[in-house]
Amino acid sequence: MNNLEQFLYSTKNTHEDDYVIWMAFPGIYSFSLSSLGYLWMFKTLDEIEGISIERICSDTVKTRNRKENVKLFGFSFSFDLDFLTIFSMLEKYEIPLKAEDRGDEYPLIFAGGPVVTANPMPYNSFFDFFIIGDGEDVNIQVAKICKDNKEKSKDEILRLLNNVEGVYVPKFCSTPVKKLTKRLSECIYTPILSEKAFFKNTFILELARGCSNRCGFCLASYLNLPLRFMPYEETLKVIDLGLSKTNKIALLGAQISAHPHFSDICNYIYNKIQAGEKIEMSVSSLRVDAITPDVVKTLVAAGQKNSTLAIEAGSDRLRKVINKNLDEEQIFRAVNIARENGLKGLKFYGMIGLPTETEDDIQALIVLGKKLKDLHKGFDISFGFSSFVPKPHTPFQWCGRENTKSLEEKAAFLKKELHKLGITTNVSSVKWDYWQAVLSRGDENLNNFVLDVYKKGGKLGAFKSAAKENNINTDEYAYQHYSFDKKLPWDFIEMKPGKEFLIKENQRLLAL
Ligand code: SF4
Repeated sequence: MNNLEQFLYSTKNTHEDDYVIWMAFPGIYSFSLSSLGYLWMFKTLDEIEGISIERICSDTVKTRNRKENVKLFGFSFSFDLDFLTIFSMLEKYEIPLKAEDRGDEYPLIFAGGPVVTANPMPYNSFFDFFIIGDGEDVNIQVAKICKDNKEKSKDEILRLLNNVEGVYVPKFCSTPVKKLTKRLSECIYTPILSEKAFFKNTFILELARGCSNRCGFCLASYLNLPLRFMPYEETLKVIDLGLSKTNKIALLGAQISAHPHFSDICNYIYNKIQAGEKIEMSVSSLRVDAITPDVVKTLVAAGQKNSTLAIEAGSDRLRKVINKNLDEEQIFRAVNIARENGLKGLKFYGMIGLPTETEDDIQALIVLGKKLKDLHKGFDISFGFSSFVPKPHTPFQWCGRENTKSLEEKAAFLKKELHKLGITTNVSSVKWDYWQAVLSRGDENLNNFVLDVYKKGGKLGAFKSAAKENNINTDEYAYQHYSFDKKLPWDFIEMKPGKEFLIKENQRLLAL
């Protein structure tokens, strides 16, 4: 906390005998200030009487004996490679990495966030407990249980937490863990504004959570079902609150365009701009069907020049297989609207190596690029690709990944051919995507592996040599097609719509 931070809620006084919690962000301070989920979690705990909570980032300066009074130390775990920073932060405060090596003199260590909600097993032995699913309410419950029982032993507290819905305690858990789903009856918005934030002084507002499109590979959709929206009246009030403190606003959500009042919300902001308010607005990547004149005109009036469109694949056929349900005509219509209403360019985002992909689908991307270029001279068109990673709790969780060599050839081919058309193309590292797949479908056998990866420095070479030394065939996690009757490491996490649905969806999509 410093004087460059502006709190948008009333902070309370702290006392000597408060129960001390650290909420950690596995990244630098400026990124933490742009992480809405992390900041909101902090705010909800910060409002509890008798609790003193501190934010800790990877670049927080360590002061002597700082950790002495900390009883609970929680980490936000949003990206597969976050474990590297989490381990280094624990070591910085001289806390043993394995839970079994931490006696009652150490704080309880926990993690929450999409990675561990989907599959905590590769990290099982490092945390005392995990929060599975939306953490806004359970976090409060957990903090209160820990505070009210602070005199008890760690094991006694963990047994209490083991009974809380949405909490997974590896040491005591014997039944399935239910993922928690919160209704968005309250608006989630930036509680602390700062010019030090990565998105400087930007007020972020979560307009919708989840996405009903259910693309076969999409963890963000399946993890956050059902799609939920902020109530309209509340949204307008919160927009006013944000704009009374800053002129930068960002609307967040995978499917914000599905908000029943999305056009009204855009118009509300547009009218303010027309009335002379200087507002900069941005939105998270847009779905093609979100490109309407109202939205584009608001974005342009609010200073946005380019936007990103997720098309996922090059051909209508493959888009059907992944459940994207988007045809070429819709893409062209969206580009027309974007251009006619003042955007200067669009970045098209897709994936290579999707299940059933053929050479024709790759060629279709090049054909699409050429058509777009021919039709829209002077409009800035670029492409970005990553490679398919099978994710737990999705219909494609059983699908193995294409091998690294062939994916790298596809990536190089696409880059070369699109470059000839004058299209800039970025492709994420196929090798890193491979390790992401290993971790995504990992089990408890990876615990010592991830520890070794960390000890060896966390670079690509570290992953390779840790796998060798631990005698782990990582190809099995990344490449293998699993049969439906295989027991999956994350099966014990109960999530709607459930495994039967995922099997049916897998069969339906792959047969298209
Ligand atoms: S449209 Fe986007 S967010 Fe929605 S399911 Fe598909 S990939 Fe996921």
